[in-house]
Amino acid sequence: MSQIKNNLKCLLLCAGVFVSSGFAKDVAYKITMIDVGAGLSAVLEIPNSTDPQSPYYILYDFGTRNADFKFMKALIKPKRNEFGETVRTIDLAVASHTDQDHIDQEKNVFRDFEVKAILRTGYHKGKYEFDKIKKMLQTQLAQNMIDKEEYFELLRQNLNVFKPTKTWEEGNEAIGREIVESGCIDLNLRHFDENGMDFSCGADGVLEKTYGNNISIKMVAGFSEPPYEDENLAQSESLNGASIALLVGVEDNRGTLGNKFLFTGDTVGRHEGSSDNSPPIAGERYMIEKYSSLIKNLSGLQLAHHGSDDASSKAFLELANPQYTLISAGHKHNHPRVEAVNRLIAAMIKNDRCQDENRCKEYVFRTDRDDQEDFGIESALGASHAPKGKDPKGDDHIEYTAYTDGSVEVSYIDIDI
Ligand SMILES: [Zn+2]
Repeated sequence: MSQIKNNLKCLLLCAGVFVSSGFAKDVAYKITMIDVGAGLSAVLEIPNSTDPQSPYYILYDFGTRNADFKFMKALIKPKRNEFGETVRTIDLAVASHTDQDHIDQEKNVFRDFEVKAILRTGYHKGKYEFDKIKKMLQTQLAQNMIDKEEYFELLRQNLNVFKPTKTWEEGNEAIGREIVESGCIDLNLRHFDENGMDFSCGADGVLEKTYGNNISIKMVAGFSEPPYEDENLAQSESLNGASIALLVGVEDNRGTLGNKFLFTGDTVGRHEGSSDNSPPIAGERYMIEKYSSLIKNLSGLQLAHHGSDDASSKAFLELANPQYTLISAGHKHNHPRVEAVNRLIAAMIKNDRCQDENRCKEYVFRTDRDDQEDFGIESALGASHAPKGKDPKGDDHIEYTAYTDGSVEVSYIDIDI
């Protein structure tokens, strides 16, 4: 009898092993795009094989309001530290750039989480414009076009116009405290030489770091100042074009990256309204020129700048060739723009990702699902829209799961707070 029991036990155990290795798929990494409305915040979770209860967490952008922070707290699970205290740890927090809709919750995150490292541009709103004006005034002063008194008065007036926002200052203070109190590593692109050692320099000079067994994070764009002087970018293009873009992927033992997802922040790739064939600019130009082999043939893409028309150039989308696209947008600015979505769908059809608009839209997920915009988005995405639109925040979170076998699953989820 006991032999039968043992055999049965063995059979069940063996069956269990068989099920887990034969059918269940192992998660390589998981991204949850929080429905923050017109803004961005996503949590990347990477399994930790040596301590399964303590996955690695990477936060890409900080959302727009307090409710978003509650979702972050629900997604980033607490654990006990060596002193027996319950802490929520973020291994890397990324501020893609300094627009309010991306950094609003910085102060709360740095107050309530233990953040091991922050990656940021160090480029704040208005700084670039202010420096340009200062240079011009210095020239005028040198040529006696203005006197010293006028120079300082004009400088003071412009400093007022271009001063950093309150949100930026509060976030900056919170980061400063975390650096001093818990030794958070400040990966600030303005003085990266001193602090960049947390990342290593990979092939092509890309800054990279590996989490878990083989999940690689590569910084494929991101600037402390706009990248191309010759492009004469407008102020908003300069600020957004500085966005830090992060490529996430599974690295095999030959160093090849697979099952790739690209975070683009609000990066810029074209002047709004320009022709489809105009050459890519700013961040998209940089990624194409420098890292084309890395960013091509993505499994997933965060559509840049909430689906704005000043990003997602034809050349970039055809190269990136995403299987799935996630759009973080709210009822503001008519995002995503129908022009950008049409370019995406045209690129998908050209690359045989899908055959027609209706099938393509099954691969496009948006946090403003059911919204109704003025730009006829329904013709691009074909989604069913509420009659009056204004899709609320917090009801269309997107979960993107990448598996070790190279497959991906994407769905809308609820987050219990
Ligand atoms: Zn934005």
